[in-house]
Parts: sequence; structure tokens; C-alpha cells
Amino acid sequence: KSKARVYDEDRPGTRFADIAGYEGSKAEVMEVVDFLKHPARYDRAGAVGPKGVLMVGPPGTGKTLLARAVAGEASVPFFSLSGSSFVEMFVGVGASRVRDLFADARKRAPSIIFIDEIDAIGGRRGPGGFGSNDEREQTLNQLLSEMDGFEPGARVVVMAATNRAEILDAALLRPGRFDRTVEIPLPSYVERAAILAIHARGKTLAPDVDLGVAARGTPGFSGADLANLVNEAAINAVRADRGVLTAADFEAARDRLLIGRRDASNALL
Ligand code: ATP
Repeated sequence: KSKARVYDEDRPGTRFADIAGYEGSKAEVMEVVDFLKHPARYDRAGAVGPKGVLMVGPPGTGKTLLARAVAGEASVPFFSLSGSSFVEMFVGVGASRVRDLFADARKRAPSIIFIDEIDAIGGRRGPGGFGSNDEREQTLNQLLSEMDGFEPGARVVVMAATNRAEILDAALLRPGRFDRTVEIPLPSYVERAAILAIHARGKTLAPDVDLGVAARGTPGFSGADLANLVNEAAINAVRADRGVLTAADFEAARDRLLIGRRDASNALL
């Protein structure tokens, strides 16, 4: 039987400084970094460290980035997988992959496990609909029992991301499982400007570029959209055979992205 890995392992170099804004979210996950680096402090007080952190927010708001930054700041290995990659597996395989993943992460502890789109396996169970899917249920049960099975001293923290927290099985949110929730909303105006500045690093901006103006014109954009905006502006400069990005490049990029969104929403009608 195939033993193809469904998860990746790496050692992120990502830091909190790579994430613009979201100071509150960073402060909340800082505790995980602290636990992975100084477990003795928890032992001394007889405290059980954080086990699971659920990050909730719209697509592209930097949930993966935040999880990677936790691993980077703690300098620990990062095991990541996507919940949706389990959905198409044969019965029994999903559960055994979860077992392998946790076994590997424990071997390499201290470590972080990151599960993107956890709703694909952790959506509410019960009769009818998608919830009666056997495979998914077994995978979820395996995940729950792995999280319950950590010995008190195990330095493995599971971070998971979803944009639909309301459909998650309540069993996931019980104490000792995902007992912390961090909200990652769309960025504010000030955060958008800061995200644009991070992605403009290393690029040459013409004097007429005002990132505050670009931020004003992009309400509803996620961090991923803003990263894309800066890159599109740079591509616009390339097309004009320039190395310097102008305000007009940013405007053209924004227009292109907004038209892309309008087309996407038309397609839903
Ligand atoms: P999804 O839910 O779609 O998986 P996500 O919330 O995990 O998205 P990421 O993949 O972490 O989002 O973000 C995508 C990219 O957007 C990042 O790699 C980064 O380039 C940029 N980005 C998002 N948020 C920020 C931020 N606060 N600061 C800097 N860059 C950001």
C-alpha cells in the first residue's frame, strides 16, 4: 500500500516581524513560542502548556504565515498538512496518516503541527450530508485521540486554520484540544498600509507612490490580495521596461485585481 506522505516538514525562517499588523494575534500565539522554548516554566508551576490553537479568519489573512512565524520564532520543525487532502482518501488511510504525522512530530519535538482547512475533516458530525462520511469521521476521531494522548510533557502544539469556525465539531473545541481561538480578520486601513510596506521592501518606489493612498483604495483586501497587488504593480513596471514602481502601476494593479473580483462574483450569479 502506498505510503505517500500527505504532509510536509520544514524549518521556517518566518518571524513575527514578517507579519504586518495583527499585534493582538501575535501576542496570543507568543505564549506558544514561550511554551516551546521554556517548558520548564510550565513544569515548575504544574501547568499544562497550550495544546491546540485554532486560527479563524477569511482566506489570505495570514493564518499560515502566523503558524510559520510561531515555528520560526521558537526555531522548531513545522509539520503541515491540508484538511482537504484527506477528503479523497480510501477508508482507514486518513486515520493512519494522522497517526504517522503525530508520531513524526513527537519524535522531532518540540514541534508544531499545522492543519490548514481543518473544517474539511473537523466539520460537524452527525446524520445526513457530508457529516456521515465514514472516512472523515475516522480521521477526525484519530485526530482527537492523538491530541488527547499527548503526555503532559509533550512539546507538540497543533495549530489549525479555518474560515468557517461555526461548522466545526464541538468536540474539537473541548479543553485539552483546540482550547485557544485566535481571530484573524481582514486587515484595517493601518494594517493594509503596513502589509503593503512589507511587500514593497526591496523594490524601488517612485516619489509619487503613497502607500497610505493605496491602502485607502483597498478596503476588503486580505494580506494575500495586498501582496498580489504589489507584485502586479511590479509586473506593470516590467511591462513598461522600468525598474521603478510608480503610482500609476499601483492604480493599474488595483484596477486589474478589482475587475478580477467582479468577474469572480459575476460567475457566482
Ligand atoms: P488561506 O486561508 O487562504 O490558506 P491564510 O490565511 O493561511 O490563507 P497566508 O497563506 O498565510 O494566508 O497568506 C498568504 C500571503 O499573504 C502570505 O504568504 C503573505 O505574503 C501575505 N500576507 C498575509 N497577511 C500578511 C500580513 N499580515 N503581513 C504580511 N504579509 C501578509
